[in-house]
Amino acid sequence: MKVCLYIRLSKADTDQRYKVESDSIANQRALLHRYLQEHREFFPYEVVEFVDDGFTGTNGNRPGFERMITFLKSGGAKLVLCKDLSRFFRDYVETGEYLERIFPVLGVRLIAVNDGYDSDDYKGTTAGMDVVMRCIVYSYYSKDNSQKIRTALDTKVRRGKYIWASAPYGYVKDPEDKNHLVPDPVAAHVVRRIFALTLDGCTTSEIARRLNDDHVEPPAAHFRRLFPDSRRFTTRVSSENSWTSTNVLRVLHCRVYTGAVVSARKYWNDSDIRDNTIEVGDKWVVFPDCHEALISMDEFESAQQTLRQVKQPRRQNLEYRLRSLVRCGVCGRIMGYRRQGPRSPAYFRCCKNLFSENSSCPTNEHFNEEDLERSVIRSLSQMLQNVVDNDRRIQEAAARTTGTVENAKRSILRIDQAIRQNNVKKMEFYEQYSEGSLSRESFLQRKAELTSEMDRLTAEKSLLTEQLSTLEQVQNSELHDTAEAAVDFLRAENVTNEMLRRFIDRVNVFSGGRVEIVYRFSAPYLDAMSEVRAGADID
Ligand SMILES: [Zn+2]
Repeated sequence: MKVCLYIRLSKADTDQRYKVESDSIANQRALLHRYLQEHREFFPYEVVEFVDDGFTGTNGNRPGFERMITFLKSGGAKLVLCKDLSRFFRDYVETGEYLERIFPVLGVRLIAVNDGYDSDDYKGTTAGMDVVMRCIVYSYYSKDNSQKIRTALDTKVRRGKYIWASAPYGYVKDPEDKNHLVPDPVAAHVVRRIFALTLDGCTTSEIARRLNDDHVEPPAAHFRRLFPDSRRFTTRVSSENSWTSTNVLRVLHCRVYTGAVVSARKYWNDSDIRDNTIEVGDKWVVFPDCHEALISMDEFESAQQTLRQVKQPRRQNLEYRLRSLVRCGVCGRIMGYRRQGPRSPAYFRCCKNLFSENSSCPTNEHFNEEDLERSVIRSLSQMLQNVVDNDRRIQEAAARTTGTVENAKRSILRIDQAIRQNNVKKMEFYEQYSEGSLSRESFLQRKAELTSEMDRLTAEKSLLTEQLSTLEQVQNSELHDTAEAAVDFLRAENVTNEMLRRFIDRVNVFSGGRVEIVYRFSAPYLDAMSEVRAGADID
């Protein structure tokens, strides 16, 4: 695929005072190439580069940019990469124009590597605009000295006003004051849950999986439901729209949830920030208590720290055998998988929302991976051995059975009829005997004949019933398929996650290590089933 790289050296970059080595053309190029190499979805790719060198920022032409837009309009490429959004667009108006109108029409996807922005995350919606705006606003605050923008936004920010077009996920705009945020109860709960899971060590992809498992509405769909008439959503929200690591991460990085409004440090004079209610970092100024917080400042900081820590083993996590199978027996959530250190044993644990009260989940218990694996594989092997044995027994019995299901059913009906007639006759003889029209001797003889006939009929019926059940089981191909897959499983040298998921729907783990395995295959003919399902303890 063809990929456009847009590289721009702004005036601020060339100015010695602000010169940042990482912004040189060579470094921007290296950053973008590295990004491409790390994302196999783009392979094989062909790079087309557009460069603007020393552009001033607020006026003048950008020949490289113009050339690229022409190239995109002629269908030259569908993917554009740049370092950050402020490098790409000159101002808000232009940003909106390109992201909401021009790029969607051209089908162009834009990725701003350092902003973590990917227009594909908002496919079919324009919900990403507020994120883009936030990025842009931050960037312009730090780079652009335009007095005009500064004063207008600044006074609002100073007063703790939320100035962006739409409320971030978790909040809605106060109906009384469009620059003030109030919590959106449903989404606020989800935000709290995301932070709680992170603090418990869950990775962003685990969290996303869990939210999807619980059918939690993702941000774009949620927004659309709240504001069906909003012009921001005139285009469709794809039905596959779901939670991803990216939108989970976006929630986790959003400081607005602490009740704060954030502004760029560079934008403020020292006299402005002497006020002790304002927190100051290298780049940002944070105004706390502007609206109701969804999580505390401490929780936010811990979450950022946890995020950095859990980043490392993520890749490794994907490989474990019981992936997506182990669930908390109490709340039904997929259990978190982690290890204390790189060499310590891995374990499972229920990550039930820390914020929810009356949790009876075993949140403090660690379930050792190796023990659980051994227990599950052993139970499954026994189960599958039973399936194979039963299948063989049924196939053998079927080979001995002649006739069809239909014939057997008809014969059984005939026998039932004969049995009923037999009973009627017995009744009649008894009545004749009690009326005196039949001697006791004759009565007893006829009764004995009927009884022996009845025994013969009953025996024949039970034989036919057994044949019928065998014939019906042979017709059940699901059972035979399971048995064939079971043979492969039992012969395999190494058990993989895929193999386990072929047979197991879930492994419910309860306090004390009691395990319940729910299989994917139905095997009602197996008496052993109920016992195995009832559970094996981890030993
Ligand atoms: Zn639980």
